[in-house]
Amino acid sequence: MEFLCSQCSACCRNIKELGLPHNGDGVCSHLNRETNRCSIYNTRPDLCRVDRMFEKYFKPEMSKKEFYKLNTKACHVLIDKEGFDESFKMDVNEYDK
Ligand code: SF4
Ligand code: SF4
Repeated sequence: MEFLCSQCSACCRNIKELGLPHNGDGVCSHLNRETNRCSIYNTRPDLCRVDRMFEKYFKPEMSKKEFYKLNTKACHVLIDKEGFDESFKMDVNEYDK
């Protein structure tokens, strides 16, 4: 089972409260706005790594499937906030298959 990501970048555009660098607009300074990709992907912080966050902090609290589902629901909120197309929303039910 892998975390499902549509690479919409909505999370990278809403990092104000997460302590990552941004230019005042909440968009991470590491996001390449032309390609919509992370410019430091291989060295991105733990905060941006779903699996690592699960292993480090959430494993005692819930299953990986539950954690993935919670993250995907958070993605949906951010996708709505950004006004992105519905097609960027991954289906939480996929984790049950
Ligand atoms: S908001 Fe979710 S689906 Fe979009 S890039 Fe971030 S993790 Fe992936
Ligand atoms: S470091 Fe990369 S993955 Fe993390 S929020 Fe910034 S652009 Fe997104």
